[in-house]
Amino acid sequence: MRYVSTRGGGAPAGFSSILLGGLMADGGLAIPERYPQIGAELLAAWRKLGYRDLALEILALYADDIPAAELKAIVEHTYTAEVFRSDEITPLRQLQPGVHILGLSNGPTLAFKDVAMQLLGNLFEHTLAKTDAQLNIVGATSGDTGSAAEYAMRGKRGIRVFMLSPYQKMSPFQTAQMFSLQDPNIFNIAVRGVFDDCQDIVKAVSNDLAFKSRYKVGTVNSINWARVVAQVVYYFKGYFAATASNDEQVSFAVPSGNFGNVCAGHIARCMGLPIRRLIVATNENDVLDEFFHSGIYRVRSADKVHQTSSPSMDISKASNFERFIYDLIGRDGAGVRRLWQQVDRDGVFDLAGTPHFARVAQFGFVSGRSTHADRIETIRRVFRERGEIIDTHTADGVKVGLEYREEGVPLICLETALPVKFAATIVEALGRAPAAPPGLETLEQLPQRFTVIEADVDAVKDFIERNCA
Ligand SMILES: *Cc1c(COP(=O)(O)O)cnc(C)c1O
Repeated sequence: MRYVSTRGGGAPAGFSSILLGGLMADGGLAIPERYPQIGAELLAAWRKLGYRDLALEILALYADDIPAAELKAIVEHTYTAEVFRSDEITPLRQLQPGVHILGLSNGPTLAFKDVAMQLLGNLFEHTLAKTDAQLNIVGATSGDTGSAAEYAMRGKRGIRVFMLSPYQKMSPFQTAQMFSLQDPNIFNIAVRGVFDDCQDIVKAVSNDLAFKSRYKVGTVNSINWARVVAQVVYYFKGYFAATASNDEQVSFAVPSGNFGNVCAGHIARCMGLPIRRLIVATNENDVLDEFFHSGIYRVRSADKVHQTSSPSMDISKASNFERFIYDLIGRDGAGVRRLWQQVDRDGVFDLAGTPHFARVAQFGFVSGRSTHADRIETIRRVFRERGEIIDTHTADGVKVGLEYREEGVPLICLETALPVKFAATIVEALGRAPAAPPGLETLEQLPQRFTVIEADVDAVKDFIERNCA
């Protein structure tokens, strides 16, 4: 399997050489030269597999330069009942007849990002060990990504994590998740500022190429290819769990921000998984919903991003979207380069009325938008009908998914977090707080370890230098 850039530049590369990188040399994203095609025979064989064996089959297609026995060991070490609270890893449960929730949030940080990030931690450690190399991950988070990265990288040889977060602006549970980690290779940097300040500092650190190479600075952001491909696995798993035969189709509803999760669904569909629709659900930050309805991709400026009660979907642009557009416009790298030049110049491109945009339906995509009122109403309704509490992001997916419900086609709504992470909104909806899962009831009382720093690039660089000695 060789990977090319969505912008058409550079030479094709293997999985291991794109694993630790961010953007490709020409500024594009890594994408396979072609998607492996899963025929009826293979699909029938895969239906019988447990999560680990299924993951190994799929990952082996994409990470074919990791020796099979080593990949097997990594996968078996990653997807365990100890880490994901059940041997099914991503259990499916019924919400109402024909409507299911795929439980993706049973990993250490109670959000779907663990499914990919836990694998990434083990892949990174394995790859670095081969050359006795070091990696310092520098990132910015408003909650879910940072904690998933820290729990995936804690205690890993050769890896340190410097995670910037806006001081006193995450939910109490998210703060406790990150700051209670006592591992010496994890550094929580609480920046006096907002999330955008954190992101600007990380960009400035990454743009200082001398600093970046001296301190082996890397990232684990959502454009990382291994994260996307790890997520492909649960679309297959969810499909098998919701159907009795491979003649059936299903639709997936996906709460979306950076388009990483639903991009994995797109890839599963391109591989031949019988997916009817991929239903993209956004919150008030509706960059993606606008595109799927109008053909116009219009990024927002940071000051136009709404702070919502599904904060992990509060985005100004969708960083994985470029991978889908590459496929949509017929895998034309030069075309993608031109579109993103337009985005950089004007903040927008417009595919309305083009043959490309007409193909969106062929790719199964539809979309919808959910607001705070919708979220509250959906949480109430699910609680009333099922006695179950769902998280705010998941509620956005359920709300939009039900709008596209079709008779005879199972609908699978992806559960992207557990409600305890966003307790304040649950209290607003139901007048009661969600329970923490067993073992995490006292998380918020544990001692916290973090360093408060001014929103200043040099102060952060200085901190990294001092802790890399
Ligand atoms: C990251 C995240 C999302 C958005 O996922 P993308 O892959 O960025 O589209 C949705 N819900 C939760 C809880 C998340 O943490």
